[in-house]
Amino acid sequence: MKKNIYDYTLKELEKMFSPSFRAKQIYHWLYVRYEEDFSKMQNLPKALQVELSENYCAENLTIATIENSVDESRKYLFRTKEGLSFESVFIKMRDKKVDENGKIIEGEKYTFCLSSQVGCKVGCAFCSTAKGGFVRNLSAGEIVEQVVRLKKDNALAPEKRVNIVYMGMGEPLDNLENVSKAISIISELNGLSISARRQTISTSGIAPKIKKLGEMDLGVQLAISLHAVDDELRSKLIPMNKAYNIEAVLEAVRGFPVDTRKRVMFEYLVIKDLNDDLASAKKLLKLLEGIKSKVNLILFNPHEESEFERPSMEKVKAFADYLVQRGLLCTIRESKGLDISAACGQLREKEKRKNVSYETKGN
Ligand code: SAH
Ligand code: SF4
Repeated sequence: MKKNIYDYTLKELEKMFSPSFRAKQIYHWLYVRYEEDFSKMQNLPKALQVELSENYCAENLTIATIENSVDESRKYLFRTKEGLSFESVFIKMRDKKVDENGKIIEGEKYTFCLSSQVGCKVGCAFCSTAKGGFVRNLSAGEIVEQVVRLKKDNALAPEKRVNIVYMGMGEPLDNLENVSKAISIISELNGLSISARRQTISTSGIAPKIKKLGEMDLGVQLAISLHAVDDELRSKLIPMNKAYNIEAVLEAVRGFPVDTRKRVMFEYLVIKDLNDDLASAKKLLKLLEGIKSKVNLILFNPHEESEFERPSMEKVKAFADYLVQRGLLCTIRESKGLDISAACGQLREKEKRKNVSYETKGN
């Protein structure tokens, strides 16, 4: 089987091919030109083109389905060579900036939501990904290639600003080795050049891995899926809370190196009648005291496998107002792509229900 060319850092390629400047040329073709055919990499000597074509592959993922949303976000279902499927979301947002003359410049901002695993071991009660169980980790190259595919398929110029969030399928800290390698490949200046500061790892709270990530000092942003303010409810939503409870997670967060201008994001999935009351907001405020934080309220996105319900916008706004009035930064996540089964794992589940038999465990 050919090796995945996106699995390699620039330094690794420099050691593999001589002279070492070939590595930069390969990176340019892959990540700036989105070229998958080694024989078209014109400034490489023919022998190297042949060597690359025979041993490496630059098209390891195929796009199985794309769902377009009215709000211009697009959800991709990717398929690996062995027939496994997982999702990424391309999110486009209008952006307004004021220039030095006070003129408003309208632009666009892009966020790519990437998967880190096929399935997930954590098994949260509300999550579609959990329903499929755990299949395997994605390699660094498979994580990186999602970015290339999304940029290429949407014809994004290489210099367009992109943010990355590891909020797709899987628990990124359960695949830390590959995710951290992907982060450094994605941030390589000679390639995609998306700095670690523009990449956010979202975790359900594996406390020792948060500590480990902090020690790696990658410069990456941290988001914590908190979802509940007491251990009883959190353990029901996220079973792992029994091993690493709210205090253990917050303790790990307190030790995490946060950029001076940044904050740790706490994601709070608002579920009707479970955690959408002001008493919870009050408790949340208290829990986050002393942590440089911002809260992102996510409205539960209903799906067929779950009995939970979507909260009313009124309640979510009241929750947000309570926090904002007391000085805590709080946003409500726009339901990007609600009409396209937005929360990750949902498109894959939908495909499965259609009885499409593409998912095999490989051999
Ligand atoms: N495993 C990591 C990252 C992937 S999940 C984590 O749990 O943080 C990314 C986000 O999607 C999490 O914040 C999760 O709470 C959210 N999510 C999962 N199912 C959802 C649903 N049905 N509606 C809304 N958000 C959901
Ligand atoms: Fe895994 Fe995150 Fe889904 Fe929980 S919410 S099952 S950690 S992907």
